[in-house]
Amino acid sequence: MALYRTEAVVLRTYNLGEADKILTLFTKNRGKVRASARGSRRPRNHLMGVSQVFTHGSFLIFRGKSLDSVSQGTIIDAWLYLREDLVKMAYASYLVELVDRFTEEYDPNEGVYWLLVKVFAHLQADGLESRLVRYFELNFLRLIGLAPQLVSCASCNGEVLGDGSLRFSPQEGGVVCSDCRRSRSDTLPLSAAAYQTMRWIAACDIDRLPVLQIPEDTDREMEEILRGFINFHLERPLKSLEFLYTIRGTS
Ligand SMILES: [Zn+2]
Repeated sequence: MALYRTEAVVLRTYNLGEADKILTLFTKNRGKVRASARGSRRPRNHLMGVSQVFTHGSFLIFRGKSLDSVSQGTIIDAWLYLREDLVKMAYASYLVELVDRFTEEYDPNEGVYWLLVKVFAHLQADGLESRLVRYFELNFLRLIGLAPQLVSCASCNGEVLGDGSLRFSPQEGGVVCSDCRRSRSDTLPLSAAAYQTMRWIAACDIDRLPVLQIPEDTDREMEEILRGFINFHLERPLKSLEFLYTIRGTS
């Protein structure tokens, strides 16, 4: 029997028919997988709890010809705070959409799986949401081979000084030096504070994030740079950002 067991996070769900759902899972060993969860919208169905978006669960999945189907599932973490707090929900929706949009089915990436689980777990703490999302973005981009170039100039590979003369080019994929910035029109401003903070977050352990003081304008600057970089790699905008901006009351 083509059955496999895997731990996974539910990235998104679609309703199908009267009582079923199609789940998009990010599994530990197989990357992104789509699987039906039959009957999971019926009250008291054994798959109901584990078929909710964001849920971290252990799944027994039958490998189908066109679509896999969930045979059993147990919840490891339901992350209730991601459902009860709208701000946390908006950030979590953004993270799962990033994973969904940047990954292909059956392309394993265990690092992405652990990153998502780790950041969801840390989102329980209040006030750290924004820096956790920056941490996620920087690490996720590295894990899928799109790490922004932050050490030397992404255009000429020359030395860069974190003195405020830097710019960030989404197209070049990183910081550009004061010489290269002159010939480019696509660059975004990058202050010395945002540059240093971004490098620190990209290299730090997640448990160290709370110790860092990040002024709001520095955080906003990093957000705009990473959003510009991420958008450059996507054909259409991320839907979850609209929800996030509405909840936060800013864009
Ligand atoms: Zn350069």
